[in-house]
Amino acid sequence: MVFYALHVGAELDGLTNLQPRHGCDDPNFPYYLKLKCENCGEVTAKDTYVTLSETVDVPKGRSTANLVQKCKLCGRDGTITMIPGQGTPLTIEQSQKGEKACLMVFDCRGYEPVEFSFADGWMAESLEGTPFNIDCSEGEFADYDEKGECPVGLGKLESAFKVVKKNERAGKARYV
Ligand SMILES: [Zn+2]
Repeated sequence: MVFYALHVGAELDGLTNLQPRHGCDDPNFPYYLKLKCENCGEVTAKDTYVTLSETVDVPKGRSTANLVQKCKLCGRDGTITMIPGQGTPLTIEQSQKGEKACLMVFDCRGYEPVEFSFADGWMAESLEGTPFNIDCSEGEFADYDEKGECPVGLGKLESAFKVVKKNERAGKARYV
């Protein structure tokens, strides 16, 4: 098994705390991924999504995963299990420093995530605290914050997967 942390970056303008609408662990937020089979290297043609609220039994296993999928080319089964409690919203401070925020960790067996797709269902708040619902599928967003009397927006969405290791300390697992 390999743990992959999804890191997301964006240029935030007057906005902070970019994250899925009900937080990184939003049970119904679909994370859209392109997956590469570790056995034969085939990359899924379409984006596959995983959500925390959907789990399936792993064949021959004793556990559940958020996705069990057979590779279309070689037929090998792969699974993805989401690990909640690891994500933090992307802040304007991180954005200004060109840093990314980790949103979610995926325990991947048989598949490697190679691409993340931004879709609808995001939110951020203005520096005055006004929440904005954001559709990231266009890659850009622009609006006006009445309270702060200034335009807000975002662009230059980026994402990256980083291999992380499980660290257990005082009974709490962190993935870094
Ligand atoms: Zn394959």
